[in-house]
Amino acid sequence: MTERFSFSLHATDGKARTGTISTTRGEIRTPAFMPVGTAATVKAMLPESVRATGADILLGNTYHLMLRPTAERIARLGGLHKFMNWDRPILTDSGGFQVMSLASLRKLTEEGVRFSSHIDGSKHMLSPERSMEIQKLLGSDIVMCFDECPALPATEEAVADSMRLSMRWAQRSRDAFGDRPGHALFGIMQGGVTRELREESAKKLKEIGFDGYAVGGLAVGEGQEAMFSVLDYAPGFLPEDKPRYLMGVGKPDDIVGAVERGIDMMDCVLPSRSGRTGQAWTRRGQVNIKNARHQDDPRPLDEDCTCPACRSYSRAYLHHVFRAGEMISGMLLTWHNLHYYQELMQGLREAIAAGGLDDFVRRFHALRTEGDIEPL
Ligand SMILES: [Zn+2]
Repeated sequence: MTERFSFSLHATDGKARTGTISTTRGEIRTPAFMPVGTAATVKAMLPESVRATGADILLGNTYHLMLRPTAERIARLGGLHKFMNWDRPILTDSGGFQVMSLASLRKLTEEGVRFSSHIDGSKHMLSPERSMEIQKLLGSDIVMCFDECPALPATEEAVADSMRLSMRWAQRSRDAFGDRPGHALFGIMQGGVTRELREESAKKLKEIGFDGYAVGGLAVGEGQEAMFSVLDYAPGFLPEDKPRYLMGVGKPDDIVGAVERGIDMMDCVLPSRSGRTGQAWTRRGQVNIKNARHQDDPRPLDEDCTCPACRSYSRAYLHHVFRAGEMISGMLLTWHNLHYYQELMQGLREAIAAGGLDDFVRRFHALRTEGDIEPL
């Protein structure tokens, strides 16, 4: 245990890196995948089950928690870790992205964003200062700067204006965060798909100085090719000795491509959300458990997977409980998906440490290309 937040790199392979982030609440092995616990729960999972999949850190959503049950209430009840029974690190987003995608009647000014709650229409304000206050009340270990993320496609001028606003907000976030030993503040690079804007944004963030840096404004519908083309250069603008976080990514092949390009942390609702809609992610790609081909299949989802869903249940059972609308369906598939994601991260970390990432990535793609096992 350490009193300070720190990051140490253990090995690199090409641009890919593996290391450890040390926090007062435990270590985070990188590259790390963070399951999303939007409303103080990773849906359909007990916290100890999430930990059992291999997760070192969770993500919580400022926007959702400020509206319900409110950050002030969580603080009175001892903070988010105690409230949701997760004693390991938590990263909270700033609310900026979700206020733009979920809230209604938004009004964006230099000060921040005024909006109405999507739950009950109540009026709220999010600004850099308010976002820092909320994330402090929650007790988050890794706090994100309040930023604005323009929806793509947008004109280059609009992306530039938005990025510069986000950089002014980054300075205000830094000032409002203050000095909080044991807690980290991450800056967020913006600039869309324009190299010069990404470079300008990174330069400004480095002048302000952060404990880690996120690549923001990607995974917002631009497609994998455009995302990878930005990741080909953008992580290189950021300090080597600080963690790099790609927000909101992604599918397993997005994750592998991002790690190859020097990303250390990612988060996505995909494994948990897919688990509730009958979609499983496996080494052989995506499996739709709703499909009638599974109804008489006694084999596990993935015979090499050690998660409870694969160890103790058949495809036929998983198909049945999904069709019957039973809660255990979402529980088992979410567990499997999170387990698969964490196993992928473990494989990436080991491959980077051994200098064998290219081989790992080749096998990863080859097995997916082969596809799911033949129907019986
Ligand atoms: Zn499994």
